[in-house]
Amino acid sequence: MTPKESLKRLVKGNERFVSGQALHLLQDENRIQELAGGQSPFAIVLSCSDSRVVPEIAFDTGLGELFIIRVAGNVANTSSIASIEYAVAHLGTTLIVVLAHQSCGAVTAAVAGGDNGENLNHLLSHIAPAIKASKDNSVDAVSIVNAKLTAEDLINKSAIISKAVEENKVEIRSAFYQLADGKVVFFD
Ligand SMILES: [Zn+2]
Repeated sequence: MTPKESLKRLVKGNERFVSGQALHLLQDENRIQELAGGQSPFAIVLSCSDSRVVPEIAFDTGLGELFIIRVAGNVANTSSIASIEYAVAHLGTTLIVVLAHQSCGAVTAAVAGGDNGENLNHLLSHIAPAIKASKDNSVDAVSIVNAKLTAEDLINKSAIISKAVEENKVEIRSAFYQLADGKVVFFD
C-alpha cells in the first residue's frame, strides 16, 4: 500500500467511527490465525496513552493493521523512535501518523511546569520545544505544535526514517484527535 492509500484508509475508517458506522472487521478468530505467521500493518501511529484516544477504534481497524506506539504526550524519545524504525525497516509500513489530542494531560503538565519527579520531568522535556515554538500557549495549540515538531523529530533523529522518507517509501503526517466527536484532523 502506498502512503496515500494508507492515509485514505485511516480517513475512511475515522469517518465510519465518527458516524457510528464502524465495521469492526478483521477482529475474529480467522484473523487471529491468519496473523500468527506474521504482520504487515499499513500504518504506524505514535499516539498518547490517554484512555480516550484509541487508534484501533478511532480508525476502525482490526488486528494486524496498525503498528502503534503509545506514550504520554506522543513524544519522540529513543524508545518510540526505535519502535517506529522497526516497523519501517522490517514490516514495510509506509505511513507514520503522530496523533495528538485535545486536553492532553501530558501537555497540560508541561505547560504548567514545575517539578513532577525525575521520570515525568524527562518525558515532559520532550514537549518543551513545542511550548517555545507555539504562539498560543493553550494546551491544544501546544499539542498541535508538539505533533508537528515530533513528526520533524522522527526525521531528524532517525537515519532509517529519514532515508525512507527521502526515498518516498514513507510519509509522515501529524494529526489531532477531537475528544468531543472522535474526529481526527490531519495536517500537511
Ligand atoms: Zn495525552
